[in-house]
Amino acid sequence: MITDHFNRPLRDLRISVTDRCNFRCPYCMPEEIFGERFQFLPKAQILSFEEIIRTARVMVGLGVKKLRITGGEPLMRHSIEDLIAELVKIEGVEDIAMTTNGYLLPPKVDALKAAGLHRLTISLDSLDDAVFQRMNGRRASVEKVLEGVTAAEQAGFSPLKINCVVQRGINDHTIVDLARYFKERGHIMRFIEYMDVGTMNGWRLDDVVPAKEIVARIHAAMPLEPLDRNYRGEVALRYRYQDGDGEIGLIASVTQPFCGDCTRLRLSPEGELFTCLFATQGTDLRAVLRSGATDDELVAFLTNLWSRRVDRYSEERTENTTPRDHKVEMYHIGG
Ligand code: SAM
Ligand code: SF4
Ligand code: SF4
Repeated sequence: MITDHFNRPLRDLRISVTDRCNFRCPYCMPEEIFGERFQFLPKAQILSFEEIIRTARVMVGLGVKKLRITGGEPLMRHSIEDLIAELVKIEGVEDIAMTTNGYLLPPKVDALKAAGLHRLTISLDSLDDAVFQRMNGRRASVEKVLEGVTAAEQAGFSPLKINCVVQRGINDHTIVDLARYFKERGHIMRFIEYMDVGTMNGWRLDDVVPAKEIVARIHAAMPLEPLDRNYRGEVALRYRYQDGDGEIGLIASVTQPFCGDCTRLRLSPEGELFTCLFATQGTDLRAVLRSGATDDELVAFLTNLWSRRVDRYSEERTENTTPRDHKVEMYHIGG
């Protein structure tokens, strides 16, 4: 096990397998910037499955227990199930999950299950079709994502987690409907405070609906009570419905930051490591991998990186924080 400057262990690795996406959510990949002519990474610059597997294996040796496959849209990476099938074989991996927008799930989900994927999170910001289309750059209807949800249920992935980014004045009037729908369907809603990730989405603090307000609105319709955290490093604040029928999670990274327990390392598609979601700079692992480094050299490299880690951006963020330039973009590291 390795720990950072604030004694936080390295426990979770989030692997962004592609910078491409079939949606254009304005809070993540605004259409104006990620248009027809945007140059995504060429294949040679993206880590191969072998490189990702090797990296994960070494990190599991250093204490990583949980892997999350994300993107961009992870289902856009060709044969992603083959990667998962290899990652689940790594001894010491306790949990392997994927976050997806759900669009490509119906034809893929059985292969993901067969590969051994443990859990799925599907993002859906609203059940109101006009609201949802606005929030995905008019790439998908609600119905299309719900087809993905149904396919995931049929493949045996229940309960699912359903991610919803809440933006004031955009979808906050639809969160109670979303909570009710997925309560009835037996899945766990996770409401995420809109975050100032990257520099392209024009984030303003006023656009954030605080988790407390989200809870209050749902509580007024369907009474809730707080739950304890499952484990150190769990980022979601959990509440259960008082009628005993299900729970929700809140990712309150703006109003109730959880840096003290942040045990996550993020790997970008081209092999850069980020020790914080709000980092301005990554560390080039690909060069090390491609220079013929031995496993021992990789261990030394990663131990050095993690032990110097001092990130606590969300705890330091205030209303007066001047936006950092060149922050890494969400589509690049996958949340
Ligand atoms: N494409 C997949 C998806 O949307 O589920 C995986 C990658 S996406 C970057 C991972 C999660 O980050 C999604 O649930 C998305 O809603 C969330 N997200 C993206 N930008 C965000 C932002 N600025 N603030 C909060 N959450 C954000
Ligand atoms: Fe694509 Fe996910 Fe970003 Fe939306 S949030 S643009 S689906 S990567
Ligand atoms: Fe972790 Fe950085 Fe988020 Fe704090 S701001 S919880 S250090 S990713």
